[in-house]
Amino acid sequence: MSHERYEMVVGLEVHVQLKTRTKAFCGCSTDFGAPPNVNTCPVCLALPGALPVLNERAVELAARAAHGLGCKIDPVSVFARKNYFYPDLPKGYQISQFDQPLATGGSVVIGKDEKGADINIGITRLHMEEDAGKSIHDRYPGATAIDLNRSGVPLIEIVSEPDIRTSPEAGAYLRTLKQILQYLDVSDVSMEEGSLRVDANISVRPPGEAKLGTKTEVKNMNSFSAVERALETEFDRQCALLDAGGRVEQQTLLWDATRETVRPSRTKEGSHDYRYFPEPDLRALMLDKKWIDDARKNLPELPDARKLRLSQELGVSSSEVEQLMATPALADYFEAVARASGDGKAAYNWVMGEVLATLRVSGDDVALFPVRPADLAQLLNLVRDGTVSHTAAKRVFALMKDTGHPAAQVAADEGLLQVGDEGAIATWVDEVLQEHPDEARRYLSGEKKLQGVLVGFVMKKSKGRADPKRVNQLLSSRAG
Ligand SMILES: [Zn+2]
Repeated sequence: MSHERYEMVVGLEVHVQLKTRTKAFCGCSTDFGAPPNVNTCPVCLALPGALPVLNERAVELAARAAHGLGCKIDPVSVFARKNYFYPDLPKGYQISQFDQPLATGGSVVIGKDEKGADINIGITRLHMEEDAGKSIHDRYPGATAIDLNRSGVPLIEIVSEPDIRTSPEAGAYLRTLKQILQYLDVSDVSMEEGSLRVDANISVRPPGEAKLGTKTEVKNMNSFSAVERALETEFDRQCALLDAGGRVEQQTLLWDATRETVRPSRTKEGSHDYRYFPEPDLRALMLDKKWIDDARKNLPELPDARKLRLSQELGVSSSEVEQLMATPALADYFEAVARASGDGKAAYNWVMGEVLATLRVSGDDVALFPVRPADLAQLLNLVRDGTVSHTAAKRVFALMKDTGHPAAQVAADEGLLQVGDEGAIATWVDEVLQEHPDEARRYLSGEKKLQGVLVGFVMKKSKGRADPKRVNQLLSSRAG
């Protein structure tokens, strides 16, 4: 089996669109989904004489990403022209960074190995660049259309070391990277909208061999699982090639998701083909040491630190925290409910239960959820002090969602306050015993397991308002 004779060696290049309102070198909007070619101007259309002006916000976000990934930011970095011809690149070059990138030398921990040690994936470099336009091949028969809205949108490219050894590790790296960038709030990191794109460099070698084999570059994967499948496919292809006495040829391959295969791309390029040279229209990017230090100090809390803090402070397990961390907005919502109610467990149950179930149906973002954390916390407090039963709480929650009214008001208006009054509960119990004579007779003659059924009937009759503890006590005393 060739998989035992070879190991996979993978490095990933991830392009991430920065969350700025305007493009990298002009004032055009970065709005996704605008009609074609609306967000353009002489600079991003490459009209003669137009000059680029660097977007300061893009530098801030790129620096934040670099710090968050543990990279060292160079006080001097240089923009360079990456020259190539493509119909959606009107300038004939992309402004990028080449031999003097913004930042180098970071790392990401993607999990633990069998011995419990961290699996670290090194980050070689992080540099800034602009996006090209988009060629649209499938809308007009026999023609290709060009949309330049994306031309000049600010990107960072994050290049990993060839530290990845398996396709699941590649997936773990991408998910970890995405989460870090989300929590840093530097990008929407959406593969569907193209704000996160992945190219993979892959080679194989015998285990223990230090020298790297010849690599191929695989492009055109549109999901993290597609990256994993493409790597497996290309690994198999390279192993089979070597086993048959062949040689791997350095080339660019495109992943074909429908056929689950890779095919050679028509374009071939090495860095020498790009004829990089310093961008004459932009000065070197000089960053003040204090500015760099301040950016590091003001970094938002990173996912690992937040996981640890939430589990320590709010009494939820690490696997529960993992679920709550799915998006920063969900983690924020949970944390606010848990703090306001003082009950992390109940907050977890409600957020993962009712809140997420509602969001799944509506497709809305939790940040816009009509029941705000303070209001949900109030409901949890009403349940805890026995003012509202668990059953009634779900009804109260549904009404809070529809009306926007606070929990106490909804419970009072709808008559859903829990009834602990002996007289009222006794009446419900008596009615239930009369309406279910068979169960009543068996229960009263000693069939104790029917108590739960009868409690259920009473809860239903009282529309969830009866205090189940009192109902249980009363039934027990009847069975005497
Ligand atoms: Zn523009």
